[in-house]
Amino acid sequence: MRVAAFASGSSGNVTLISTPEGALLYDAGLPQRAILAQCVALGVTMDQLHGIVVSHEHTDHITSAVALAKRYNIPLVATAGTLQALHVPDTVATMVCCAGRALQLGPFTLLPVRVSHDAREPVGMSIRAAGSSVTIATDLGDWDDALLEACSDADLVVIESNHEREHLMQCGYSASLKQRIASRTGHLDNVQAGNFLAALAADGKTRTAWLAHLSQEANTAAVALRSVTAVLRYHQREALYRSIIALPRQKTIVWGEAQRSVQLNLWAE
Ligand SMILES: [Zn+2]
Ligand SMILES: [Zn+2]
Repeated sequence: MRVAAFASGSSGNVTLISTPEGALLYDAGLPQRAILAQCVALGVTMDQLHGIVVSHEHTDHITSAVALAKRYNIPLVATAGTLQALHVPDTVATMVCCAGRALQLGPFTLLPVRVSHDAREPVGMSIRAAGSSVTIATDLGDWDDALLEACSDADLVVIESNHEREHLMQCGYSASLKQRIASRTGHLDNVQAGNFLAALAADGKTRTAWLAHLSQEANTAAVALRSVTAVLRYHQREALYRSIIALPRQKTIVWGEAQRSVQLNLWAE
């Protein structure tokens, strides 16, 4: 299984997961042209997609979801609440997923997990195929045991590491926006992400971690990596992560062969 993040953060989120037997998109928060170009660059055509999974209805996750599903006749996969919020036209095929219930989509076994976020029915997801497994959880204000469980067999964990608490408090956002982001239904900060990864590593399994959905105003890749690594070091769990990468806003990072992450130069400058 190959996992490719095209973009991550409040200006767009798209991940392509592919195997020789087919592919799926997880969120489609970029213009169609950008998504198509990245897929083609990775050798994946739209007719190989078994579905477009939508985590929740916020704009940075859905920009092209309905349009791509309609244009290429690809089913949209989301919770009932998310599908309702998306106002999907009748001409688009949909598959309803539900937290805690596994769903088969081509070669992929999907297991959605409820997350705490201010959307209708948001989920994260464990995706398994071809003997490996990735769990993606972005846009959540808190984590719980269900999310740890959803990551238990993940080789790659994509976890939100949105902001550094102190930077958020000092940035130019309004008081109400800061409060929303820092709330239990907002976004995970770096220390929360670090604590999550430390708790996950208690099982002794070695994994790769991608830090996702970094805030443009209240985080940087260097700050996120420093904070998360410091928490892991404190809990003596740093060695259990093969590598930890902070996802760039718009650059393609690919995980796959030999469980290594590489950055590909697929975006035109
Ligand atoms: Zn988002
Ligand atoms: Zn959101």
